[in-house]
Order: sequence, then C-alpha cells, then structure tokens
Amino acid sequence: MNSFFRGLVDLFYPPRCLSCNDLLISGESGGFCQECWSRISFLSPPMCQICGAPLPSGENSAITCPRCTESPPPFQICRSIGRYESVLLEAVHALKYRGEIPAGIALGKILSSCVGEHFPVHDYDRVIPVPLHVKRLRKRGFNQSLILARAIARDFTLTLDFQSLRRRRHTDPQIGLGRKQREENVREAFVCVRGKEIENSKILLIDDVYTTGSTVTECARVLIEGGAQSVAVATVARA
Ligand SMILES: [Zn+2]
Ligand SMILES: [Zn+2]
Repeated sequence: MNSFFRGLVDLFYPPRCLSCNDLLISGESGGFCQECWSRISFLSPPMCQICGAPLPSGENSAITCPRCTESPPPFQICRSIGRYESVLLEAVHALKYRGEIPAGIALGKILSSCVGEHFPVHDYDRVIPVPLHVKRLRKRGFNQSLILARAIARDFTLTLDFQSLRRRRHTDPQIGLGRKQREENVREAFVCVRGKEIENSKILLIDDVYTTGSTVTECARVLIEGGAQSVAVATVARA
C-alpha cells in the first residue's frame, strides 16, 4: 500500500492496540501500545538450546533440558516470542477464535523479528505452516499458522509452502490433554505429500502455540521422513 492510501486508512481506521484497543500513538509499532508491549513475557536465556524450554536461572544456555537430552526431538531448534499468557494469549485468541486477521499480521511481524534474531534465516529454503485439517479450515475460514508463516516468508524472501504437509486426520482439540495424550492424538495425523519438493530442504516450521511440543514434533518427524534435511520451529507463544 502506498503512503497516501496508508494515510487514508489510518485516518478512517486509526491503528489500535491489539490487546487493550487503545489508539496507538505514532511511534508505537508492532500492533501493541507501549504498556501492553511491556506486559509481554518475552522468553530469554537460560533456555534449552534445542527446544527453548526455560531453564532455572544460573543454568548455562549451552545445555539441553532433561527431555531433549533423553530423547532429542526431530527438529534442530525451537524458539517462541514469549509465554502464552496475558497480551500474547489475548492476541492469539483474537486471531484464532474471533478471526481478527490484523492480530495475525501483527503477531507475524513480531515472530519474524524473533526468527531474525534466533535463526540463521538465510540457511532455510522454505517456510511451512502447521496445517489444519480441511474440516477445521472450512469452519474457521483461515489457517492462523499460514498467516504467521506468510509474514516470515515475505520478510526473508523464502518460499512459502502450504502444500507439502497435510493434516490427514481430524484430531480432537488438544486443550486439557497431557503430553502422552497429545502425542497419541497427533500420531499419524500429518502426511508429507510432495516428497520431491522438500527433498534435502531446510525447513522453518511455524505454529501459533507450543504446548507440549507434540504437534511440531510430529510434523518435523514426518518432514524428515519425507526427505527434508532439517527442520527448525518458531511459534508465537509457549505454554
Ligand atoms: Zn494496549
Ligand atoms: Zn529441550
């Protein structure tokens, strides 16, 4: 959009904070007002060098958490913007359950800077969003992870690939399930349908929330089995 139209849009639909809905003053960016921005619990070291799990303070960030040490996940690294609470939780809910696409676009921008900070972005070949099953996609009308992935693909001029990975099984919502149950729930739920496309590629996998990691773990496993060389994961929030 050129700046003239941007100006017109701002005049009639002035940008508002995604969390408290206050008008944003100039200079406030990223979709949140300064006060809400300061309430985001950004994740910072020390954290597991593989899955990004917060570690007790004083711990060395060059180590892995007990879970990754015991059974290393199929992805190389996973990082999230912040904890799944307050401002980030509200913004994810606005996107996912109320269909507020501007929230997704703003979260995509923030995730993109998180990715730029933590990942060797130009090493990747393609960005893949965690897919929804076609049933859920029809009901919701959009895939929230695709909106996030699109922002990253655009910012780093990477291929956006929303076709190679499919969700073939409609799974029950994971809310309230423990790790073992979540792992059961997503087993065999994904399939890699374009092996030729992803062969030897380095993939950046995008999801909205990392809870127990069972969804991204299963996606990464399927992509590696399908011929991908490596998978890295970025999510907006971490439960
Ligand atoms: Zn606010
Ligand atoms: Zn870990």
